[in-house]
Amino acid sequence: MIGVLALQGDVREHLTALAAAGAEARTVRRPAELDGVEGLVIPGGESTTMSKLAALFGMLEPLRERVRAGMPVYGTCAGMIMLAEKILDPRSGQETVGGIDMIVRRNAFGRQNESFEAAVEVDGVEGGPVEGVFIRAPWVESVGAEVRVLAEYGGHVVAVRQGNALATSFHPELTGDHRLHRFFTDMVRSAR
Ligand code: GLN
Repeated sequence: MIGVLALQGDVREHLTALAAAGAEARTVRRPAELDGVEGLVIPGGESTTMSKLAALFGMLEPLRERVRAGMPVYGTCAGMIMLAEKILDPRSGQETVGGIDMIVRRNAFGRQNESFEAAVEVDGVEGGPVEGVFIRAPWVESVGAEVRVLAEYGGHVVAVRQGNALATSFHPELTGDHRLHRFFTDMVRSAR
């Protein structure tokens, strides 16, 4: 059973992609709902809003605790920002869950280029590059020693993994390609 954090963002697309990858999936809004899942996806959307709502719903501490305890978690775009230990260009007071020792720059790919698609080769994902959808996407500015870089695009890090935490700058849930969701459900299975 994998949860999708449903405070804000493209929740439905992740539920569909997880189901297509063979997982059971449901929305998570409250701490009690978090208790019932073995892994969690943090969707794309707007990290400033998501962060505010997470605080309002009393979710920040429970999320930090589960991630610290090793629950598999996958953040896409705004979700990647939520997993960063530090953000460049944060809205004032913007808090994150953390879990990946990285510094992430919000809106890094630029507003003039608000949206683009690019083929991205992801380490550990077989069968050729995935089609990355980048929407006001962040990039990873720097990573700590424990973080594995899984993909780069245009000289910037766009996919990383640290232990059971996975993050991509782009949105695989907006394509019909479910290989990254399968990659994540495999992480959840092996964490059992
Ligand atoms: N720029 C957004 C943010 O700062 C992320 C955009 C997205 O998730 N597509 O949260």
